[in-house]
Amino acid sequence: MEYNEICGKRQLEFMKQFDYIREAGTDGEEKAALEIQRELKSFGVDSRLEEFEIDTWRILKAEFTVTEPFEKTYTVAGYGRCGSTPADGIEAPFLYAENGDDINLSQAKGKIVLVNNPVNKDMYKKLVHAGAAAFLSITGTPIDEGPDRLLYTRGVPKMEETPIQGLVIHHRDAMELVEAGACRARLTLLQEPEKAVSHNVIARIQGTEVPDEILTLTAHYDSVPQGPGAYDNMAACAIILELCRYFKAHTPRRTLEFIWFGAEEKGLLGSRNYTEVHKDELKHHCFNMNVDLAGQLVGGTVIGVTGDPSICSMIEYMAHETGIGMVTRNAIWGSDSNTFAWNGVPAMTLNRDGFGMHTRHDIVDYISPWSLERSARLLGHIAESLGNIPVIPFKREIPETFMKELDRYFGR
Ligand SMILES: [Zn+2]
Repeated sequence: MEYNEICGKRQLEFMKQFDYIREAGTDGEEKAALEIQRELKSFGVDSRLEEFEIDTWRILKAEFTVTEPFEKTYTVAGYGRCGSTPADGIEAPFLYAENGDDINLSQAKGKIVLVNNPVNKDMYKKLVHAGAAAFLSITGTPIDEGPDRLLYTRGVPKMEETPIQGLVIHHRDAMELVEAGACRARLTLLQEPEKAVSHNVIARIQGTEVPDEILTLTAHYDSVPQGPGAYDNMAACAIILELCRYFKAHTPRRTLEFIWFGAEEKGLLGSRNYTEVHKDELKHHCFNMNVDLAGQLVGGTVIGVTGDPSICSMIEYMAHETGIGMVTRNAIWGSDSNTFAWNGVPAMTLNRDGFGMHTRHDIVDYISPWSLERSARLLGHIAESLGNIPVIPFKREIPETFMKELDRYFGR
């Protein structure tokens, strides 16, 4: 690869315009999709938008009041996609169940149950099974002040039945009400389901000799509502954009498809839509190279490989050729690469550790051109090697253990 054609400063300049929140289904997300398209056009690459619908919600009322042995109303946010309580709420005994272990949950029947972590599908089912009347989960840290005390609505994963409703409460309020001995409370959540639209941005560089063998380079461009997601994940968007520019000038033998996914933060919805819409074409996909979390200076690079373990050795060999430090991990990975692997396409996510993910502190000020440049060179070398190698040097299959983990991950 012509490493001197990869420029970290140019990537950073591109990123600077995305200093706004790009929550899936909002105007911010759509604006970003159009900006990515415009940038592609500026160096002669045509792209298309693939639109898809997402299920979202509107919270009409979210309220939590301790009723015994004192009375106090706390600031809360509602969980979406779990329906509504009766209009005047549910009043019930209160229980703090920590991490929702079996001993704590054996006392949960008929109670409003406070747990530490965001309620995922497993925890939701455990709470229902334990007979909880409703739930609260804790967010934030004890040192939060001012804007860090703000609470954001979050969704439970899509489920067939959602018999109980829940709220989010701040760490410091949770401490207060447990310490003060709250034993009875009233919880109200009223909401309406809504539909919104998100988009994937797709650009294809047709291979010169084996165009029907496809390699994908992917990154999500949506953010969480808390902050403008520079590290998570506009930096990765800039990395694959830089590589798209490079490969436009140095077209490999195989086809490269570049995809900027929407709605990753809502449950990998962009990549799930892509694999559905392009189901018939997936048999031509050889490998997915995803990037999620990138661009900060202080950190290290991990490439998570979901596929045959030989792919790790291959990638490590390629990294040695570049002299750029990294390690591999053979595992499933909580990003869009999982969707490809679940659909039988070996996949990797390039990931760099860093600061501030899913907070308002995830801003471009902490992004480093040095880091962007190195990651783009490393990924570029891997993509160029696989794009030109006579035969893809690994099996196109996903080990059974990963398939089982992915079934669980996607809730099958
Ligand atoms: Zn991310």
